[in-house]
Order: sequence, then C-alpha cells, then structure tokens
Amino acid sequence: MERSVVEKERISKLNAAPVRERGKYVLYWMQASVRALRNPALEYAVERANDADVPVLVVFGLFEKYPEASERHFAFLLECISDAGKQLEERGIEFVLVHQVPTTVVKALAADAVSVVTDRGYLRLLREWRSQVATEIDCRMVQIEGDVVVPVQLVSDKEETAARTIRPKIHKYMPKFLHPLERVTPKNTTGKAGMLASTLATLKEFELLDWRDPLAVLAKLDVDRSVPRVTWITGGATHAEAMLADFLKHKLKDFAANRNEPAQDFGSNMSPYLHYGGISVVHLVMEALKHKTSASKEGVDSFIEELVVRRELSMNLVFYNPHYDAYACIPNYARITLDEHRHDEREPTYTLQELEAGVTYDECWNACQREMVVRGKMHGYMRMYWAKKIIEWTSSPEEAYERCLLLNNRWELDGRDPNGYAGVAWSFGKHDQGWAERAIFGKVRYMNKQGLHRKFKMELYVNKIDKL
Ligand code: FAD
Repeated sequence: MERSVVEKERISKLNAAPVRERGKYVLYWMQASVRALRNPALEYAVERANDADVPVLVVFGLFEKYPEASERHFAFLLECISDAGKQLEERGIEFVLVHQVPTTVVKALAADAVSVVTDRGYLRLLREWRSQVATEIDCRMVQIEGDVVVPVQLVSDKEETAARTIRPKIHKYMPKFLHPLERVTPKNTTGKAGMLASTLATLKEFELLDWRDPLAVLAKLDVDRSVPRVTWITGGATHAEAMLADFLKHKLKDFAANRNEPAQDFGSNMSPYLHYGGISVVHLVMEALKHKTSASKEGVDSFIEELVVRRELSMNLVFYNPHYDAYACIPNYARITLDEHRHDEREPTYTLQELEAGVTYDECWNACQREMVVRGKMHGYMRMYWAKKIIEWTSSPEEAYERCLLLNNRWELDGRDPNGYAGVAWSFGKHDQGWAERAIFGKVRYMNKQGLHRKFKMELYVNKIDKL
C-alpha cells in the first residue's frame, strides 16, 4: 500500500485493475463527502496524482432521478457542491459538475485516468454504484471512508444489538482517528498542467453544469418541486462552520440538559451537513473536545454520544442489515409483540394524506409534522414521538413503518440517511429493549402526550411552530 496521510483502515481497493501508466489525471469521484476541506478521499487522490505527476480531476455526477430526492434536497446539495467547487478551485484542483448518473460519467472519465478514488457511502444504491463502476473500469479504483470517526468494519464485523454493545468498541478505537487531516499540496494544479475540462473529448458528450450558480442549476433540473427548498439553512462547509461556531459558543455546554426540550433549539443542526458529507465528523468531535471543561463536560460527552455512538450505530445497521429500510429489520421480540397486537383497536386511524397535512387531534403532533414540512427539520426529541404516534394511528405496523420512512425521507432535509433508517427502526423497537406490555405497541416502547406535557413546555413549542 502506498504512503498516505489517510489511515490505512479507511482505504480499500475496490478492484484488482492496475494503475494506468499513461493516464491524464487521477479521478476523484466525489459523491458522499461533498467537501474540499478535511476530506480524506480528496487528500488521497492528491497523493496519488502527485505520485503519477498528473493533476486531480474531481467529478460529481448529478442524478436528478435520485430516489426520493426533491427540490429541497437538491438545493442544499447544490449549495454544498458550489462551496466545495470554490475551495477546490482555490487549491488549483479542477472540478466538474455533470448532469448525468454518476456511474456513466465516472466510467467514461476513467478511460483517461491513472486511477479512480471515491468516498464511501453505506446505503444500497451508493454501494451498488461503486461496485458496478469498479468492475467495469480497467484502472484501479480505491474507496476512502471519510464520514465516520471509526471505520465501520473496524468497529465491528456484525450487526450490533444496541448502543450499549457498540459504545465500548467505538471508544476503544476513537482516539486513533481523532487528529487533523494533513493537507497535501497538488504538484500539478490545473493551470500548470494546462488540463482544462474543456479539452477533454470525453466530457464533450456530457452536459456540464455551472456549479458556481446553484440556483440556476436547480431551475434546470426536472425534480419534485412539491417539497420546496428551505432558506433558513444553507449548504456547504462555510455555512456549516458558521453554524458550528454558534453551537460551540452558545449551546454545547448545556446540550445535555436542553437538547430534548422541543421549544428550545439546542441541536447543532449538523445533520443536513453530515448527510451530504459537507462537514467532517472527525473535525466536529475535535472541535467539541476543544471546548471540554469541567463545566461543559456533560454537554460535550452527550454531543459525542449522539454524533459518534448513535450515528455510527446507524452506519453499522445499514451496512450489516440488508433490510435496513424495511419492517423486516426490526428485532424478533418487536415483530412478535406487534403481531400479537395487530388486531387491537386503533382509535382514531388517519390516512397518509391526513398525517401529511398534520390534521390529527393532537396539536403537539401536528406541530412537529408542520415543523418538518415547512422547515425541513423536526426537533430531535419530537421525531421519536412523531413515529410512535404513526404506529398508534395506522391500521398495521407494516404500513406504519412505510409511512414513517416515506414522510421522513420526503420532508426532512437530512432524510434518506442511515440515521433516518435507524431512527424509524428504533421507534419500532430496534436498538431498544422490551417494556411493559400495552395495547397496539405490545412490548415496544410507548410515548404519550401527557409525558410530553409533563417534561416539556409544549405550549411554547406549539406556538413557535404556529408562527412558521
Ligand atoms: P444534534 O442533537 O446536534 O446531534 C448531533 C448529531 O448527532 C446529529 O447531527 C446526528 O448526526 C447525530 N444524532 C443525533 N441524534 C441521533 C440519533 N437519535 N440517532 C443517530 N444519530 C443521531 N437523523 C438524520 O440525520 N436523518 C434522519 O432522517 C433522521 N430521522 C429520524 C427519524 C426518527 C423517527 C428518529 C427517532 C430520529 C431520526 N434522526 C435522523 C436522528 C436525530 O433525530 C437527528 O439526527 C437529529 O435530530 C439531527 O439534528 P441535529 O443535527 O441538530 O442533532
């Protein structure tokens, strides 16, 4: 294995093809880690390009038919892409945004590449795309895992049962991966090498999009516009850093105490950035640790628990469980108990349209549904309550499961993420334990409105959402 600033556990060769001797560039297929800063796949690509004395070409294939993606998702993604493009340009690294399914454009560009480097995605389609490209190209393809602290297969070689089983494994390896990623200077910048995308015959077959102008690109796309873009948050590492700075300064210290209070906005809001790989999770942990004092210890520990243990448990689920996006992924105890209670009376039941419109009898539930639809990000605590109520108001648990995934993935800016699949599964008993048996839920944990009112200032939350 070549020398690298990237830890060897993050590097995996996806095919046995050789490095091409006379390639024009090292191709970095950017897809899961949409950032130019603290991106191990990018640094690895620069190293390999320097070895071969060629430049790096970074490509992003924009596939407008990506499952369940809407205007809301594409707007944020394009902002991340634009930010990454600008930072790549500053380093003299050429970036092209191509209006095409990535597999097609990457296979075409691989014909002139020394080798192909890509980042790692865990969801089925992302894995399938990578293995398809790796088997069909005739130069080396290497994958770099850059969006978890501890590489998933190092943490565990099997699906973990719960946070308590994965936590010690993650903490054992975490220190090894918590260090700044060295930046590698490209020997051949675009200017020096004189290689412009416009000179590549292969790219002439494709439609190039202007990554500098996300709104113009968005206007061109044939996407679902019934889920409109949101403007309270902007994609890209620059905006993520600003939001992070605010969180570290004003919220982290009291994160443990306040994060669950729905009326307070004590979350970091990092989930949309993490979903698109717009910020490095290693960097987030290191920044949080810099703020660790005796007064903020609880807040920092709690943030790291969510950000690393919970999030990487989700990665473990989607990597090891082929049914991660289906009812079949819930544990036996939950399936059995929900089955035993499938004929329990449900009063009322709602149609999917009624749920989507947020017109139930429960003002707290309607508020969080509205928060998701209007703002594209539901409060973290309310997400649990939201899914539990869908179980209660739907005629079968299987249908409730489908509804949770559908609504979550459609409206949440951070939807279609391993955390979303794990969050829905958790609501149906995954990564949890059995509780006292009751109607409809059986032994699966139950939540009710009285509990919300007892613990939190729900009127404040409902009023706040009313004003959105
Ligand atoms: P913070 O509270 O600031 O936490 C920091 C980070 O820790 C988050 O960005 C996230 O990456 C991670 N994290 C926090 N809570 C969890 C958790 N319970 N499980 C795993 N990781 C967590 N998260 C998504 O990213 N996308 C989803 O689609 C999604 N859907 C969910 C659906 C349900 C039914 C449930 C119960 C949870 C879901 N979550 C989802 C997990 C969690 O609610 C969100 O990650 C969190 O609310 C995001 O806000 P934040 O970035 O401000 O989080």
